[in-house]
Amino acid sequence: DGRRFSGTPGDAAHHAAAPLDAARIRTRFPPEPNGYLHIGHAKSICLNFGLARDYGGACHLRFDDTNPEKEELEYVNAIKEMVQWLGWSWGDHLFEASSYFDFMYAAAEALVNAGLAYVDEQSAEDMRANRGDFGRPGVDSPFRNRSAEENLARLREMRDGRHADGAMVLRAKIDMASPNINLRDPTLYRIKHAEHHATGNTWCIYPMYTFAHPIEDALERITHSICTLEFEDQRPFYDWLLNQLADLGLLARPLPQQIEFGRLNLNYVVTSKRKLRQLVEDKHVSGWDDPRMPTLVGLRRRGFTPASIRAMVEATGASKQNAWIDDTVLDQALRADLEPQAPRAFAVLQPLKLKLTNYTEVFGSAEHREPCEVAAHPHKPELGLRRFSLGPELWIEAEDFMETPVKGYFRLFPGNKVRLKAGYVIECTGAEKDADGQVTAVLATVIPDTKSGTPGADSVKVKGVIGWVGAHEAVVAEVRLYERLFTEPQPDAGGRDFLAFVNPHSLRVVQGFVEPSLAGAAADQRWQFERHGYFVTDRVDHRADKPVFNKITGLKDSFAK
Ligand code: ATP
Ligand code: MG
Ligand code: MG
Repeated sequence: DGRRFSGTPGDAAHHAAAPLDAARIRTRFPPEPNGYLHIGHAKSICLNFGLARDYGGACHLRFDDTNPEKEELEYVNAIKEMVQWLGWSWGDHLFEASSYFDFMYAAAEALVNAGLAYVDEQSAEDMRANRGDFGRPGVDSPFRNRSAEENLARLREMRDGRHADGAMVLRAKIDMASPNINLRDPTLYRIKHAEHHATGNTWCIYPMYTFAHPIEDALERITHSICTLEFEDQRPFYDWLLNQLADLGLLARPLPQQIEFGRLNLNYVVTSKRKLRQLVEDKHVSGWDDPRMPTLVGLRRRGFTPASIRAMVEATGASKQNAWIDDTVLDQALRADLEPQAPRAFAVLQPLKLKLTNYTEVFGSAEHREPCEVAAHPHKPELGLRRFSLGPELWIEAEDFMETPVKGYFRLFPGNKVRLKAGYVIECTGAEKDADGQVTAVLATVIPDTKSGTPGADSVKVKGVIGWVGAHEAVVAEVRLYERLFTEPQPDAGGRDFLAFVNPHSLRVVQGFVEPSLAGAAADQRWQFERHGYFVTDRVDHRADKPVFNKITGLKDSFAK
């Protein structure tokens, strides 16, 4: 699947370079397949694939699988699917970092032979203590000045499984007094007797990320190795390593350049695979694709479009600052994408019965159905008409009736007239109540000859227009109303226990009614429910005969949460 190369280390650089096309710039997105991608990864994806697209280059999808952890095929597949869902393609540039293990080991031996690396047998504590810290130079290891021959012998013992985990490591020999702690003889290889999903038990030593990553970039002839800001202090080592290997004839110039960009962080969520996994494992959410999760699978299931995610990521630009983006920015991008294209529909989420008491009188029979129609989209005639019908009983939104209206309320109250959108003007005459005085139905009369789209439509002026669904044809639907997953904008700031800020009210499920044009809807379709916001049929649970809608976002920002 991923591209693997074999061959002797000497011509490995040639081997890796040979099959590549002549792209002018070459970037890569290098996820570790140990979890699902989140909104922060979308930033990296769009940046890397976007640069390649804009400058006639290529972007590699590289699975960074140098850790001998069990790789889950589930994650690999989900990562590929999400990169494609966002609209990008890696073409035939699919790579697996573990396929470079032979080269990496040969590079390690070459560094040892050149006196640029040594095997250190200090304990982990001594190594840490002797590294020094900011303002205090490190202390040379007693093993630092062994001969190349002795180091090579030790390294081969490490490779051959003659030593236990942690007994010794291979370190670069640079400068224990460097002001940059990353240059104080960083570790290149560690012993780990662990099986690797791709290489099995071939190896019991594994390269450190800081050693492996520059080599992966160089072998793939990456030009711009884009990473997040926390790697800035690693850049001198990145350059040191690649230049040494090029001088030793193992790598070809020009070498890749590491370039750092700010992380994208979203308010009211956490973006760390470890923390997201905790939310899943502790069952705060239903899974990685729970519509409240900032994972790409979660955002997709919630109803966010790839275009809205790309627009949001692009709006944040590529800066040298870690950006905290308000979650409303994502909602605005979604509205901007859907407003011009999503068909409209009536949905009643807190239903109250409305009875038209003069229906038979006006239409001749209680069985009569008066056809009504309205444009699916106010500015897109090509989307056609929505058709539904009026009957003697309707469902309306409970908040569209007030027995005693507050000032400025123009909807239903006794004595007031409103228009049933795409239907008739009606006049409220009262309400039915149960023994507790709760309103069980609103009563109204139809005013004849006021149907929308007919000459008499303007004969009665009203201030209020309400949505409705005929009780005889309403489609029962489960509607999932989401709010923020956390009650705090930065739930994990300062190492706090982010689980303490999980919003217990982030999901509310109601049973509502939607208009008949939505009967039989497919999954993953979006509408604007008039007055309520944007909704999508759930891609997992929705069935044509058992509809499930997710609320993506409201029609405008609501800060009263
Ligand atoms: P996490 O900390 O969530 O596990 P990670 O950085 O370890 O994320 P990787 O799979 O190693 O996850 O990331 C792949 C790429 O995505 C890396 O190049 C990384 O820099 C980038 N990336 C990860 N998170 C963000 C973010 N919040 N903003 C921008 N880029 C990110
Ligand atoms: Mg990582
Ligand atoms: Mg990480």
